[in-house]
Amino acid sequence: MTTRPANIPDLIPHYIDGERVESVSGETFEVLEPVGNTVYTRAASGDKTDIDRAVAAAARAFEDGPWPRMKNRERARVLNRIADIVESRDQELAAMESFDSGLPITQAKGQAQRAAENFRFFADLIVAQRDDAYKVPGMQMNYVNRKPKGVAGLITPWNTPFMLESWKLGPALASGCTVVLKPAEFTPLSASLWAGIFEEAELPRGVFNLVNGFGETAGDALVKHEDVPLISFTGESSTGQLIFRNAADHLKGLSMELGGKSPAVVFADADLDAALDSTLFGVFSLNGERCTASSRILVERSIYDEFVERYAARAKAVIVGDPSDPATEVGALVHPEHYDKVMSYVEIGKQEGRLVAGGGRPEGFGEEGNFVAPTVFADVRPDARIFQEEIFGPVVAITPFDTEEEALELANNTKYGLAAYIWTRDVQRAHLFTQNVNAGMVWLNSHNVRDLRSPFGGVKASGLGQEGGYRSLDFYSDQQAVHITLGDVKTKRFGASAC
Ligand code: NAD
Repeated sequence: MTTRPANIPDLIPHYIDGERVESVSGETFEVLEPVGNTVYTRAASGDKTDIDRAVAAAARAFEDGPWPRMKNRERARVLNRIADIVESRDQELAAMESFDSGLPITQAKGQAQRAAENFRFFADLIVAQRDDAYKVPGMQMNYVNRKPKGVAGLITPWNTPFMLESWKLGPALASGCTVVLKPAEFTPLSASLWAGIFEEAELPRGVFNLVNGFGETAGDALVKHEDVPLISFTGESSTGQLIFRNAADHLKGLSMELGGKSPAVVFADADLDAALDSTLFGVFSLNGERCTASSRILVERSIYDEFVERYAARAKAVIVGDPSDPATEVGALVHPEHYDKVMSYVEIGKQEGRLVAGGGRPEGFGEEGNFVAPTVFADVRPDARIFQEEIFGPVVAITPFDTEEEALELANNTKYGLAAYIWTRDVQRAHLFTQNVNAGMVWLNSHNVRDLRSPFGGVKASGLGQEGGYRSLDFYSDQQAVHITLGDVKTKRFGASAC
C-alpha cells in the first residue's frame, strides 16, 4: 500500500470566480490512485454550463478587473509571490503528485521548483519587456501597443500535471490574460492546490478559474466557447487535430504541444557511458510518460551489440516500485486504461522486435497496480508499430544503422518531430545532422535540459507554434500596430475639384 498524503478532499471542486463550487448538474467522477487502482476521491465533473460560468467570470475579470490594467511590475510581484508559495509547498505537492499520478517521489520533488521557475521567469520577462517603435524620419512614428488577448483556455495532460499547468499559467497570467484551466481527468488532485496558492498571492478574483471534467464535455465546451479567443493545449496529437477542427468556427489562436517519438542517435565515436546514462534516463524517467522521451534509439552498427547488451543489463536493474519509496526509479503508470495501452504495445513489440529486457509486469509484482517492467526491444524495423507510434511508457525500441544518411532517414521516419538527441564527438557531424533532422528541439550530447528562454515545441504531428521566452508572451498578446503622422498630412485629395 502506498503512502496517502494528508488533506485529500472528499470532493475536488471547480474554482469559479473565487469560489470552490460543485458542478451545476451535481455530477462527479471517480479519481483512482495507480498503485492499487482504488477510488480515493471524486472530482466535480464539469460540462458546458460550468464552463459557461467560468468563462463569464474570467471575461468579467478581464473587462472590468484590475489584472489586465496593472503595471507589469505589479503583476510581476504577484507572480513572484505565487512562485514563493509554490516552492514552500513542494513537499505537499510532491506527495500529491506521486500519489495521484504514480510518479516516483524523488522525481515528483523537482516539480515544485520547476513550476515556481515558470512564474519567476515570466515575472522577470514582463518587467524587462520592450516593444518595437519605428521612425520614418519627418513622416511617421509607428509603435507596437501590446495588449492581453482576453480569456485564455488552458487544457493540460496528466503527465507532470502541476508543472505543465504552471507552464501555461505563468505566461498567460504574466501577459494580463484571465484564464480557465481544464486539467486532465486522470490527475485532478494537484491542480486543486492552485486556488489556495492564488488566493494567498492575492491574484484578483476571477482571474483564475478551473473546471474539472472530461475532455469530450468540459474540454470541448471550452474549445468551442465564443468568448475564449485562444486555446493552449498539451496532449495527444489526435486530440490536437480534433481541437483544431473544433476551434475553426471562431478562428481561435492555438498553441499545441503534442505527442512525440523522439530519436536518440548514437554514433560510434560517442561517449558511450554518457549516452547510456542519458538514453536510459530519457525513456525511463517519469515512468516513460514524457513527451520528449527518447523512445527510439538508433545506434551505429559497430557499437550496436555492445550498446544493446549494456542497455538491456541496465534496464533490467532499474528499480520499479511504490512511487512513494525514495529508492524507486520507475513507479506505477497513471491509470489502468493507460497501463492496458502500454501493455498492448509490449505484446505487439514481442512480434516486432527482439525482447532483451522486461516484457510485462516486473518480477515479484502481483496483479495489483499499473506496474510495467522497463522494456527494451532490439532490432526493431522502421515499419514496426513500436518504432512509429507513441507508447508513452517505459518501452524503448533500438535499431542499428550503418551510415549517417541512414541514421538521418531513420530519425525522420515517423509522423512526429518533437525532439532529437545526437551523441557524437564529431562537432561538424553533430551540427550537420541537426540541420537536417525534423525535430523542434535538439540536444547534442545531452538529455532533455530546458532553458526557459529558448523555443519549446514540435514540428510535424508534434505541435503547432512554439512557446518559450517571449514567444509565449506573444501567444497570449495582441500586438497592435499604431501609426502616427509627423508633420503635414499628405493625402491624395479625392473629389478636390468640388472646392
Ligand atoms: P489527451 O490528448 O488525451 O488529453 C489532454 C487533455 O485534453 C486532457 O485534459 C483531456 O481531458 C483534454 N481533451 C481530450 N479530448 C478533448 C476534446 N475533444 N476537446 C478538448 N479537450 C480535450 O492527452 P493525455 O493522454 O492526457 O497526455 C498524453 C499526451 O500528451 C502524449 O501524447 C504526450 O506526448 C503529450 N504531451 C506533450 C507535451 C509537449 O510539450 N509536446 C508535453 C506533455 C505531454
